[in-house]
Amino acid sequence: MTDFLTAQDHLLTEEEGAFVQMLRRLCADKIAPLAAETDETSTFVHRQLGALASFGMLGANLHAPYGPDISAQALLQAVEVVAAACASTASALTAHFLATDSLALGGDAALQARFLPTAAAGTALGAFALTERNAGSDPADMRTRATRVPGGYHLKGAKCFISNGGVADFVVVFAVTDPDKGSRGISAFVVEKGIPGFVAGRAERTMGLKGGHVWELEFDCLIPTQNMLGEEGTGFKTAMKVLDNGRVEVAAMCIGIAQSALDLATAWCKSRIIGGEPLASRQGIRWQLADMAMDLQSARLLAREASRLRQLGQRFSAAAAMAKLAASEMCHRVTDGALQLHGGYGFTRDFPLERLARDCRIMRIYEGSSEVQRSIIAAHLLA
Ligand SMILES: Cc1cc2nc3c(=O)[nH]c(=O)nc-3n(C[C@H](O)[C@H](O)[C@H](O)COP(=O)(O)OP(=O)(O)OC[C@H]3O[C@@H](n4cnc5c(N)ncnc54)[C@H](O)[C@@H]3O)c2cc1C
Repeated sequence: MTDFLTAQDHLLTEEEGAFVQMLRRLCADKIAPLAAETDETSTFVHRQLGALASFGMLGANLHAPYGPDISAQALLQAVEVVAAACASTASALTAHFLATDSLALGGDAALQARFLPTAAAGTALGAFALTERNAGSDPADMRTRATRVPGGYHLKGAKCFISNGGVADFVVVFAVTDPDKGSRGISAFVVEKGIPGFVAGRAERTMGLKGGHVWELEFDCLIPTQNMLGEEGTGFKTAMKVLDNGRVEVAAMCIGIAQSALDLATAWCKSRIIGGEPLASRQGIRWQLADMAMDLQSARLLAREASRLRQLGQRFSAAAAMAKLAASEMCHRVTDGALQLHGGYGFTRDFPLERLARDCRIMRIYEGSSEVQRSIIAAHLLA
């Protein structure tokens, strides 16, 4: 581990530093050893989430009384540590955070008290369902409807690509309650597993993150009024706030994956002997490693800045977009560079590089593609 890149003791309290160190050990013992097998067998990361739950990590994004109240900087590092061990696990974990952040940011005290204790303990897994077949980059164009009926709302429609969707105990679903009001006519609901009319379809077959599955979800069900998150019409605003947090967490995942790739490449270049000399003795190779480290650290600093603003309670949508854009593009370059440095070995399934390269590909697409992040940054610039 390149300590000079990761050291950020000055940003964390002593307890937070100890939390991250213990998490690093847990991930080394219980999460990283399962990563290759999970990818090979496409097994959902139940075991890994169980290990993280026993450590309190499933509530790490939450504040008191439901979570440990760690800072945004500590959360950033914690997600980075999990992703460095297994990107599938980190993706399922942060999808759960999207659901619990929705409750924390948009739900009233009664709804929070019903769902957050078990979600934080990891005995109930959450999912966040915004995307539809014809509404991905522009989610406000969604078609799922929630119509007021006696006792609640009739929810009808379908969502796609929902991480954790088929195994979640509760799903935060966004639906149109007033089609005349555009994004202000969108509301959010907590849909519980097992209610009549809620069906999870097939899990998608994906290129990477093979242990963090995504499902199509269909709804034709009655949702009690008390399961509405906040006021009618506030759902889209909540989703956007949640995605600000989520984008910093995607940046953290990218930083973790890239750190793993850089560590592997550094070790490889020291030990790989070509023409009687270690690969790392070549200036071209040394410069490449230096550029990868600088690229990684630049993204890490943007993510720390977004986390600093988040911690202060200031607006950080543009900072989160920059962190996500920079980190996801960086992760692509660094994992590809690390694979290149491994030569043919990097292309085989005996080494983790090809898995990292596949896992990181989605980071430039989900929670707003790189193009969407550029649009957000430009909108702030031009406002
Ligand atoms: C593994 C995985 C996990 C996911 N998890 C979740 C989840 O848990 N919850 C959830 O709600 N969703 C989830 N998603 C959905 C994800 O957020 C969307 O796939 C993503 O937002 C892109 O939407 P789309 O696929 O419909 O692409 P489209 O919106 O069809 O975009 C296609 C291309 O057009 C580009 N584009 C679109 N609009 C513009 C524009 N205005 N200017 C320039 N370029 C543009 C995009 O950048 C993209 O490259 C997940 C997806 C995957 C694959």
